[in-house]
Amino acid sequence: MPPPPVPTSISPRRDGVVAGAAVAIVSLLGLAFLYHFSQRAQVAAVQSELLQLARAAAAQVDGDLHRTITSPAQDHSPEHLRAVAPLARFHAATRDLIYVYTAVLRDGHIHFILDSGVLRPNPFSPTPDPIMKEYPGRDPDFRRALVEQREAVNATPITETERTYMSAFAPFRDAAGRFVGVVGVDLWVHDLMARLATIRRAALAGGVGVILLSGLVGLAVFRLRRQAATAEARTAAALATAELSAREAGAANRAKSTFLATMSHEIRTPMNGVIGMTALLRDTPLNETQAEFVRTISTSGESLLTIINDILDYSKIEAGHIELEHAPFDLRQCLEDALDLLAAKAAEKNIELACLLGPGVPAHVAGDATRLRQVLVNLVGNAVKFTPAGEIVVTVDTEAVGERHRLRFAVKDTGIGIPPDRMHRLFRSFSQVDASTTRQYGGTGLGLAISKRLVELMGGSMCAESAPGEGSTFRFDVVVGTAPHLVRHGVAAASPAFGGRELLVVDDNATNRRIVHDLAAGWGFRVTQATGADEALARLRSSAPCDLAILDHQMPGMDGDDLAAAIHALPARRTLPLILLSSLTRRSSSPHFARTMAKPVRVDALLAAVRATLAEAPSPGRPGAAPAYDATLGLRCPLRLLVAEDNVVNQKVVSLLLKRLGYDALVVADGLEAVAALDLVDYDAILMDVEMPELDGCEATRRIRAARPGSTRPWIIALTAGAMQDDRDRTRAAGMNDFLSKPIRTEGLSDVLARAHAALHGITV
Ligand code: ADP
Repeated sequence: MPPPPVPTSISPRRDGVVAGAAVAIVSLLGLAFLYHFSQRAQVAAVQSELLQLARAAAAQVDGDLHRTITSPAQDHSPEHLRAVAPLARFHAATRDLIYVYTAVLRDGHIHFILDSGVLRPNPFSPTPDPIMKEYPGRDPDFRRALVEQREAVNATPITETERTYMSAFAPFRDAAGRFVGVVGVDLWVHDLMARLATIRRAALAGGVGVILLSGLVGLAVFRLRRQAATAEARTAAALATAELSAREAGAANRAKSTFLATMSHEIRTPMNGVIGMTALLRDTPLNETQAEFVRTISTSGESLLTIINDILDYSKIEAGHIELEHAPFDLRQCLEDALDLLAAKAAEKNIELACLLGPGVPAHVAGDATRLRQVLVNLVGNAVKFTPAGEIVVTVDTEAVGERHRLRFAVKDTGIGIPPDRMHRLFRSFSQVDASTTRQYGGTGLGLAISKRLVELMGGSMCAESAPGEGSTFRFDVVVGTAPHLVRHGVAAASPAFGGRELLVVDDNATNRRIVHDLAAGWGFRVTQATGADEALARLRSSAPCDLAILDHQMPGMDGDDLAAAIHALPARRTLPLILLSSLTRRSSSPHFARTMAKPVRVDALLAAVRATLAEAPSPGRPGAAPAYDATLGLRCPLRLLVAEDNVVNQKVVSLLLKRLGYDALVVADGLEAVAALDLVDYDAILMDVEMPELDGCEATRRIRAARPGSTRPWIIALTAGAMQDDRDRTRAAGMNDFLSKPIRTEGLSDVLARAHAALHGITV
C-alpha cells in the first residue's frame, strides 16, 4: 500500500513574493528618503544663496529716497532713476537674476516701486513695471515678508510659462531704521532644475534597479523554497513510508505473538490431557511392560512441553516481547529453586549438585528472578545431561557497579566436555555440538541461545570453557539492583505434603541435627533425633513408626554407610527409605541410600530429595510407603470447589487429580454455568479455565466480582494453557487470585489449593 500524499507546510510562491516585496519596500523607502533628502539639500543651497542676494540688494536701497517715490507720475524722474540705479547695477553684476525690485504695502495691497528693468532691460519682460503697480500674484512668501517685515524665500521653484524661478525677499529701512518695504530678487533656477532632474533620473533608475533586484531576490527565494519543499515532501514521504512499514511490522509482530499464544494454547490443551492422564495412569495397578510404556509417555510428554516452551521463549525474545521484571527476590532461594528442579535428575545419576555463594554476595537483590532461574536451570540442566559422573558446582560472586551489583555465576561440571572446534556453535540457535547429541541426549539446541539472550537483556554476557573429557564451565554475569531484606516465606507452608509422617535424623553434630529437624518439622514431619548409630538403631528396633531417615556420613563409631546397612538388616526396616548427607569430596557407594545429599544442606534440594524419595518408596499397602501427593489435603484444607472447564478430557483430568488430593468438585462447562452455579452454592474456590465458549473465564470472573464487591470469596484460580506473561496479567486484571498453568500437575494443584485455603482463612504463607 503506498503511503498517503503528505502535505507540506512550505509555499514557495508565497515565500518568493513576500521576500521580493519586502526587499522592494525597504529599498524603495530608502531610495525615496535619499531622493527627498538630496532634493531638499539642493533647494536649500539655492534658498540660502537667494537670501544672501536679497539681503545684498536690500543694502543697495536708499530707504529715505525710496520713501519719496510714491506715484506713477514720478516714472523716469531723476529721483526715480537715482533710486533704481543701485538695483540695476546689482542686477547687472549678478548672474541669472530675472528681476530685482522693491515693494511696499499700502492698505493691505502690495505695490511695486522700483524695478531694475527700468535701467537694465529684462529679456522676459521688456516693459518695466510702473511705480505703484499693484502686485497681481499670490506669492505667500512675498506677502509674509511685507506683513511681518522680515526675510522670506520660496520653498520650491515656481514655473511660469518658460521660466522657472525662485524669489527671496529682504526688508530695507530708512535712515531712522524704520521699515520701508522689501527688496525682491527673482532667480532663474535652471541649474537647480537640471540638478533636480538628474536626481530624479537617478532615483528613477534606482527604483527600476530596486524593482529588478527585488524580482531577482523573490525568484531566488522561490527557487530555494521550492527545493526545500521538495526535500520536505520527500522526507515526509519517507517518514510516512517508514511509519507505514513500522505499523505493518507491528501488525505482523502482533499477528506472530497471537499465533504463538494460540499455538501454545492449542498444543498445551491436549498436552494437559496426556500428562495428567499419564500421571493418573501411573498410580493404577500396571504390569512391568505397561509401567514402562507409561513412563515413556510421561517423559515424552515432558520433553515435548520443554520444546514448546523453548520455541515460545525463543520467538518471544526474537520478537522483542520479553519484558524483564524488576522486583526484589531472595538470591539463594532463586538458586535453590533452580537446583531443586534438577536435584532428582542429578540424584538419579548420582551426581553431586552444590552451590557456593561467595562472600559479600547479597542475600536479596532486585531483578527478574524467573529469568535468572531459567538461565540457571538451562545451564545446570545441560551440565546434568552431559555429566555421567562427578559433580556440578554453581558458584556466585559479586562486584559492585555503582549502586548495583554484577553477579558472576559459574556452572562447572565434570562431564563429557566440548571439543574446541565446536565451541563457536554453542550459543547459536538450533545448534548442537554434533548431530549425535540430539539422538543421545535430546534437546532443541535452543537453550543456550535463549539463556545468552536473556543474560544480555539483564546487562551481562555469557561464555564457556571446556576440555573434552574433563568437563565444562559456563560463566555468565547479570546486573541486579539492591533490595531490602525480604522475609523468606516458609517452604513448609508451600509444601504441605508430609503431614504426620515420621522422620528420624541421625547426626553427631548438634547444629546439623537442629537444621534438619527444624526444616523437616516445618514441612509437617514428626521428627525424632538420634546423636549416633546406637541411639538410631535402638529406636528403629522398637515398633516406633518411621517413614524416612536422614543419616550423616561421617560419624564417630559407625559411619553412615554401615548404619544404613545395619538399618536395612532389621527385618521391619528393610525398605525404610534413607537419605545420606555427605560432603562433596567423600561420596558413598552404599546401595542402601535412596539419595545422597551434599552438605551444606540446601533447603529446597533437601525438600526435593525428601519428596522424590518418598514418592519412590514402595507403593501403598507396604510399610513405610508414602504417595507423592497428599491424599489428605482435602481434609486438612477443606474447600468447596467449582471447576469451570470446557474440554471434556481436561474436565476428567482435573476432577481425578482433585479426587487424589481428597476433594470433590462440581464441574461446569463454561463461564455462564459457573456464574449460575455460584448463585446456588457459595463455593470457596473456583478453578476457572480462561478460554471457554459462551462466557470466558475473565468475563465470568468480572461478573462474579461485580456481584460481590470487596469479597475475596470465591478465590478464583486461572487455569490456562497460555504461557505468556500477558495471560497472567490479563487474569489478574480480571480479578482472578492465582494462576495454574496447564498441563496441570498434582504438586502445582496442591500448592494453589493450599494457598487458597490459607488466603481464605487469613493465614500468610
Ligand atoms: P539443548 O536443548 O540441545 O541442550 P542447548 O543450547 O542448551 O540445547 O545446548 C546446545 C549444545 O551445547 C548441546 O546439545 C550440547 O552439545 C552442548 N552443551 C551444552 N552444555 C554442555 C555441557 N555442560 N557439557 C557438554 N556439552 C554441552
